[in-house]
Amino acid sequence: MPSENFLSSLSAYSGVIASSIAFGALALTDRGGRLLSSTGRRARVAIQPGDGTCGTRFWSDALDGPLHQCGNPWQPGCHGKPHVPGSRCWEVTLEGVINHWDPQALTRLEVKSQTLPVARQFLHVDLKVILGFIFMTAKHGRWQPEGNRIARSTLDIGSAKINIQKMGPDLVLLHLEGQLERTYTKDYVHRLLDGYPPLLKDPGNDSVVKKGDEKRGGWIVAIGLVWPYEKKEMFLPVYSDCVEYKGRRGRVFWRSMDRVRHMLVDIWAKAFAADPTAKRDIDRANIIDHFNGPPLIPASQEAQFRAEWAPLLPYVLLAAVRGSTRCIAYFKNPGRELEHILPMDLLKSADLYLRDC
Ligand SMILES: [Zn+2]
Ligand SMILES: [Zn+2]
Repeated sequence: MPSENFLSSLSAYSGVIASSIAFGALALTDRGGRLLSSTGRRARVAIQPGDGTCGTRFWSDALDGPLHQCGNPWQPGCHGKPHVPGSRCWEVTLEGVINHWDPQALTRLEVKSQTLPVARQFLHVDLKVILGFIFMTAKHGRWQPEGNRIARSTLDIGSAKINIQKMGPDLVLLHLEGQLERTYTKDYVHRLLDGYPPLLKDPGNDSVVKKGDEKRGGWIVAIGLVWPYEKKEMFLPVYSDCVEYKGRRGRVFWRSMDRVRHMLVDIWAKAFAADPTAKRDIDRANIIDHFNGPPLIPASQEAQFRAEWAPLLPYVLLAAVRGSTRCIAYFKNPGRELEHILPMDLLKSADLYLRDC
């Protein structure tokens, strides 16, 4: 017969074992894991309230005007700062590039996603902030645009590097590296994401003068009139092909190139069927204005049109053809399209947090 002491110690032991198994089982299930971690999380947050929160930088918090302003007393020597690995490295990368924020946003904290570890710091951002950062840091250089880069976790576009970690169907962690290459206004980034041609220099008031000109042909012939021409000085390294227009790639371009083509066929070819040409100085503004104008002219105005434009015929044809071929040379490679190199559907739907390193 076992002694009473032995029995009682055995029952105590089996009690310990049973509770350990229950504890282990709890820890091994998802729900149990969440219960334990949320308990630990609550305890930690109760001791250090800052661990449960994170800062935010949303597109709506960026102020109108230039997204980067020099001379911020908190950021002396604001250009060309390399990424420095360490805690809150976004303070140099993201916030060194886009630094024109609503002051209230700079101090705002929110409760961070429960999926994120309490011990690490994060910054809650949105997609437009990331795309604005890419437009301002991407660099033409030795990188070769190549399609199907979505499979990679790190996208490298010259100086801009974006590491993407999917933490769940609706949570993505990003890490940014990149130095300021150019400053854009908030309005221009908006327009780039809304069907504007991806030109390094804002074509507003030059070849895209009035509302809707981005869909017309003026900016195509303006590209054709540039001399000397260097692709790197004309286009952004990457662009968003975000408009609805036929099914082809390069829709931002085709929409305007088709317009130019129609005008050549419907106006120019008809008017100059029997062509005498003469030379005259190129009137760039007139040519651009014409291709931003209506795509047809009334038959009654054809004779006058022919008389006015005859001296410019060779230049117009050259600008139209050269502008289109320069565009095609730019967008023929799918590696420049954000929709081909970033998991855009995921980034549009998920909560995006920056992590440090
Ligand atoms: Zn600066
Ligand atoms: Zn970092």
